[in-house]
Formats: sequence, structure tokens, C-alpha cells
Amino acid sequence: RNESSRPMSPEPTTSTPADAAPGGRAAGVDFIRAIIAEDLRAGTHGGRVVTRFPPEPNGFLHIGHAKAICLNFGIAQEVPGARCHLRFDDTNPETEDIAYVNAIIEDVRWLGFDWGDDLYFASDYFEQMYEFAEHLIRQGKAYVDSSSEEEIRELRGTVTEPGRPSPYRDRSVEENLDLFRRMRAGEFPDGAHVLRAKIDLASPNMLLRDPILYRIRHASHYRQGDAWCIYPLYDYAHPLEDAIEGVTHSLCTLEFEINRPLYDWVVENAPVRTRPRQYEFARLNLDYTVMSKRKLLQLVNNGLVSGWDDPRMPTIAGLRRRGVTPEAIRNFCDMIGVAKTESRVDIGKLEYAIRDDLNQRAPRVLCVLQPLRVVLTDVPEGEVLWLDAPYFPHDVPREGSRALPLSRELLIERTDFMEEPPKGYHRLAPGRAVRLRHGPVIRCDEVVRDDAGEVVLLRCSRIPDEEAGKVKGTIHWVSAPHALPCTVRLYDRLFTVPDPEATDADFKEFLNPNSLVVVEDARIEPSVQHDPLGSRYQFERLGYFYLDPVDSTVGRLVFNRTVTLRDTWAKAVAKRVEATGAGAGDAGGAEAAAAEPGRAGGSGPGPAEAARMAPSATRAADAAGATRPSTRAPRGGGAAAPRAPGLEARYRTYTDELGLSAEEADLLTRDSAIADLFDAARAAGASAKGVANWVIHELPRAAEGRTPAEPPFSGAALGDLVALVEAGTLSGTAAREVLAEMAATGRHPAEIMDRRGLRQISDPEALWPIVEAVIGESPAKVDEYRAGRFGLLGFFIGQVMRKTEGKANPEVVKTLLRNRLG
Ligand code: ATP
Ligand code: MG
Repeated sequence: RNESSRPMSPEPTTSTPADAAPGGRAAGVDFIRAIIAEDLRAGTHGGRVVTRFPPEPNGFLHIGHAKAICLNFGIAQEVPGARCHLRFDDTNPETEDIAYVNAIIEDVRWLGFDWGDDLYFASDYFEQMYEFAEHLIRQGKAYVDSSSEEEIRELRGTVTEPGRPSPYRDRSVEENLDLFRRMRAGEFPDGAHVLRAKIDLASPNMLLRDPILYRIRHASHYRQGDAWCIYPLYDYAHPLEDAIEGVTHSLCTLEFEINRPLYDWVVENAPVRTRPRQYEFARLNLDYTVMSKRKLLQLVNNGLVSGWDDPRMPTIAGLRRRGVTPEAIRNFCDMIGVAKTESRVDIGKLEYAIRDDLNQRAPRVLCVLQPLRVVLTDVPEGEVLWLDAPYFPHDVPREGSRALPLSRELLIERTDFMEEPPKGYHRLAPGRAVRLRHGPVIRCDEVVRDDAGEVVLLRCSRIPDEEAGKVKGTIHWVSAPHALPCTVRLYDRLFTVPDPEATDADFKEFLNPNSLVVVEDARIEPSVQHDPLGSRYQFERLGYFYLDPVDSTVGRLVFNRTVTLRDTWAKAVAKRVEATGAGAGDAGGAEAAAAEPGRAGGSGPGPAEAARMAPSATRAADAAGATRPSTRAPRGGGAAAPRAPGLEARYRTYTDELGLSAEEADLLTRDSAIADLFDAARAAGASAKGVANWVIHELPRAAEGRTPAEPPFSGAALGDLVALVEAGTLSGTAAREVLAEMAATGRHPAEIMDRRGLRQISDPEALWPIVEAVIGESPAKVDEYRAGRFGLLGFFIGQVMRKTEGKANPEVVKTLLRNRLG
């Protein structure tokens, strides 16, 4: 469509803690649903409710569109007798394509919505739109202007000056009709004339200063071919489309608020009986990605991603290919709600919805990314033990198990073995024992190296259960002769900064060069052999994965990582800084393997880190090509900065006594002011790990270039902030907002939190009545949940979040709901 008067993109907006900001929403119902309820009560629109989702077929749908889809189709599902039309807003011949139409249809259907017979194309209304334009001309409400585009702009005036009439404004009706018909007949070249509405050249709203309705474009339209050479503009076409279809509630994003008077003008003057009304809601902006089709198209056209359905894209097709389910997307849309305040949504929220959904549905299997051979010397050659291994952990109420082979030759994760383990390391080391998931406890008796000195094999033996009781760590493994080779693609965020559009720089500058790491030779347990393409799994300790429906073949399994098990992003950033800044090299790998000591069940470094440790076995995909990593290095952690003198002792305390990783300790002891800040913050009662995270990852961001070693607040104040997060009083997102203000003003965190109303509700007693209310309101969903649709948990959480305007602690809510729902 022609977009001359369309706002291109909304103003950048500031962060607010949750999209669920006050927006005139009654309890549990957003403001749009409240308006509809009131219209139904009052009998407006004769009791009809018709919404529409009106994509322009000039690209694939993205997660922002999903918000609009869930809203429009959701209303049609909830209100008896209501309908939602799927209408292609295809009035612009230049960028539209039938391939996009087909992709959009597939996506909306996949999301779980149905338009029945109500599938429409705006281009089918071209004749009606044309006749209506003649009607306007006959009424003296439109005229043909032969000024150039430049002249029209010049005459339109400014914010402070009214517009001036074009010399053609007072053409007679006859002359206007004649010229307009000849425009249609193709007698004039592009740009020779336009049709304008005659409204008000003095209006403070520039859009009402005789807006252009039609222009000449000698271009073929993908559905109309060469039938037309004049095309209507969006502000004229859109309200007519709504009116022609009998739409009652026309929902669009906030940037169209200014267009509403023009929308109303067109509808009032249209020879139709229905009067649609336009309502605006906040568009979805998601951190670490971009959401405009124009920008996404650039990524596709420049080959920076593999296509519209590249799993890193925020498109519906990309999310689907990544392994996200429609339920997770719908739950996410429920969680963020609909409001009138612009905000950016933490991508962690989307990841949370995805994990929460997959946790309930993805069977757990074992896959090893960086195999290290293990020989169990006490298992005879050729003997196979078949273990009965449940697919789900006990807190997921689903049944099922598979037979898992154990033989003499195993493969374990290379990072689950260390020759010289630091304190707190609970995985395998010479003479040490570890439990094999679902299997026996083994001890490492001997380490075998190749000529280059690299460890290539461990000789181990099983130890009896009586001795095994004390063993803390559990690692994943596969049986070497049974395991299937597979390719595993580790996806990460597409951009390195939360808002790639925030600065004047080209957004493509901020592409994350490590957004795809391909592990070519991973090994997976044989049970997945005959599962259908598109199966979802949790690879234990590694994340959720999806059997790629396009690139997998019988002989070659290809898995896409949908999401990690925890938020490993902040950790990975620190490691990348470390790897480039301090030249950590291979030693860094060994240290990284010890990054998380002491976790029951054993816990390894994220796979992205694992991949970095053995670069020979992986290749960082070249998707981001010439882009540069723009990770901001923590201050005091510049290239090759030596550890500050006198800080060696503190370094050792941090690693040995506080359980920090080598890189954390290193970053904290490069500068004594940073180390002092860390110690003072820790003294305020927060955990060492938590404080380290905030000092290393958050402080540089909040300081925005100034030296975070001398922030305008005390270490104790920082410690108080971290303690508030750890107590569940502040969410991570809200705490970042508080820290930004602390950095700017030096005020105390508790004061900022209370003034801004950011206090998170973690008190189960306070949350219990809300949980009760939510459960009471949806008896049908409760029954479905109890019948096994556990994915609905996300829906219930979303309802509680709505009622508390985003202030409830989602983890506490989840536990309460699980208890309550049984
Ligand atoms: P883009 O800016 O990505 O090109 P668009 O608004 O031009 O999007 P349309 O095809 O016109 O794309 O979008 C169809 C519908 O989806 C519109 O009603 C629009 O308001 C809605 N929509 C688009 N982006 C978002 C978003 N980020 N959040 C919520 N709704 C959106
Ligand atoms: Mg657009």
C-alpha cells in the first residue's frame, strides 16, 4: 500500500517494567475488551462485534503481529457471535506478493486461529473505492491537484503555519471528474496528478490538510495485474475496507492515533451504513530483535540470515522452525496483555513462556555435544545393559520411558572432565566418581592421551551403590556404538544490544556474530531415531531442541536449539569479553568448565561456551559476516589489563571461598575500586554470586561509559539492590531500571523502588487470593488442565500477572498455581 502519510516507525520509547501498565483496564480485562463489553451492553453496532487482522502481504508475520492476531481473533473467540476477518491490505502494487499471502495464511492458521469464510482482499474493493472517490468529487469534497509532490509539500504549511490552497483547489466538479477518469484510463504518467480530499488547510492536524487519496502508479499488481494504474492511499483505503466489511472495532497500534480523525472523516462520508470505530493499543517491542518487516527484509536480502524462517528471526515462521509452539506464543501474548502505554518487553519473558510450555511437553533425552571417549573396563566387550529411563522428571506429571543402552564404550561431554578440578567441582576427574544419568556411578581410574598430550580417553569402572551414596554430580552420556551422529545448531540472540534501533547507527551493526554456532558431530541416544520430524526434546543439561523439519534427513539428524534451560546470556557475554579481552585461550576453557560448582545434579557450562572451548569441532556460522561484535566490555576489564597489585589474595578468596568462577574473580580483581565495591556490596547480605553478576554485567551498562568503579552510590546500596532481587522483592527488569536511576542520582534503591511502584509481590499470602480468583474465573480451563493440558499453566500465570499489573513474582505464582491445581 502507499504509505505517504503513514508514520514509518514509532518513536523510541523508554522502558517500563511491564507492558501491563495501567491503560484503563478493568480487573483481568484489557481496555479494548472493556470497551467491547460496554458496547454490547449498550447495544452499539446493533450488538455485533466484528474485528479484523489486516496484514499487508509484503513480508512474513512477526511476533508483534502475533499480539495483534491474538487480540483480534481472541475477541472473536470469546464473544458469542463475534467474527474476525483475515483481510489482506494489498493496495500497494510495488512490494506485495502472493508468496507472502500464502505464508501469512499458514502462520495465522498455525497459531490456532480460524476466519471461517471471512477471507478478504482489499484489492477486491478497488472498483468500490473508485466509485466512492467519484462520489466525493461530485459532492465537492475531493479535487484533482496537478501540483508536483514538492509543491504540495510546500503548500501544506508547518506546525506553526496553516497550509495554503493549491491553484487547482477550486477546479469545477466537471473538470475534476474528467481528469480523475483520465487518470484511471492511463492518460497520464506517474506523478502528473493526484486526487486530494478537500478538508481543512488550517487544521492543526497536518493529516487533515487535504490529504492525498489516490496517486498514479503504472505498476502491475500481484492480483489485479494491469487493471489499475491509480492506487488508493492507506488513510483512504483502510477505513473504507473496514466499512465495506462491516467491521465494528478496528484495532491498530498507537502510532495511528493521529490518523483517527481522517479515518472518521472517510467513514462519515462513505455511502455505507456501518460505522467502524478505530481503537489504538501499544505495539509489541521486544528486546534483542527488530520488528519491522522492512528491516527484517534487509536481513533476508543481505543474506545475514538464511531466510524469513531462519530460527533466529522474530517471525512466526522462524519461531516455528526453532521449535516454539503456538501455545507458547499465545501464552506469551496473554502474559504481556494489551495496554495503551508503549514499552519494550524483556525477551526473557518470551523465553520464559517457551520454557514453561516445553517443560510440560518435551521428553528428556541425552545428547553429547563435544564427545570424550570413556571405556568402562568392568563391562565385558559386547555386553549391553538396557536401562529403563523415564522421559519426564517427577515434577512433570507425564508418563513414558525408553530403553537406554549402556555398553563398554561411552561418550561424555568433554567439559565434564577436568584433570585438576577446583574446589566445588562435582564432575569427573582422575580418581573421582560421578553418576551417569539414569545409570551407575563410575570412577575415573586412568587418563589416556595422544601424542600431542590431549586427553582422548578415560578408563573408568563402575562402583558399588554402597560407595556411590556420597556422589554429588550427575552427567549426561551416550553409549558410543548405539549413539546417532547429529548436527546441533545453537542459536543465540540475533543482536548484542537490547534495542538495536536506539541509536543513529545502522541496526545491522549490532548483529550478534555468535547468534549461530553449528556443532557438526554431536551424538544422541538412539531412541530418537524414528520420531517424526519436528519432534521436541529437552537434551538434559543443554536446553530444548527441535528436530529441524527442513534440513533433517533419515541419515542426518539436525537439531535446532529452541531455548536454553536458564538464562545463560549474561554469562556468555562475560566469557566473550574474557576471550577477546584477556586472551584467556585454552586455560579459559578449563576455568569455564568450573564456572558453576556445587550444583546438585551437576551442571555444565552452556553449550555456546562448550563450543568455544573446542573450536576445531565447531564452526561459528558466517551468518553475521562482516559485522563486528559490539559487546561492551566491562570497565576495568580492558585488553590485557594486569591484575591490580596486592589483589592476588582476594582473587583466591573469590574463587576458593566464595565459589566464583575464574573469570568472575578475574574481572573483579583487575581494579581495586571494583573489588572494594564488590566486597562492600557483599557485606550488605546479598550472595557473592549475585553481587558478582551485578557488578560485572549490569554496572557497566548503567554507568553508560562513565567509570563504574566510582558510582554515585555506595557498595552497600548496590548490595541492598541485589538483596532485594534475591528476596524476590524486585524483578530483574525492575532492578535494572532502579540501578539506572541510582547511577544517575545516587538515590537509595528501596526509595526508588517504592516511588516508582516497582515492588514485586512475592508474598504467597498476598498472591493466594488472586490465584483463587483466577481459578474461579476459568472453570473450563481448570478442567482441561486437570485432564492433562498442562500447557495451560502459562495461561493461568498470565491471568495472575494481569491482575497484579505485572507485579507478581512469576516463580511464586507458578508454585502456588501448581499446588492449587494439583
Ligand atoms: P511492520 O512495521 O512490521 O511492517 P506493519 O504494521 O507495517 O508492520 P501490517 O501488515 O500493516 O504491518 O500489520 C498488520 C497488523 O499488525 C496491523 O493492524 C498492525 O497494527 C499490527 N502490528 C504490526 N506490528 C505490530 C507490533 N509490533 N505489535 C502489535 N501489533 C502489530
Ligand atoms: Mg510497516
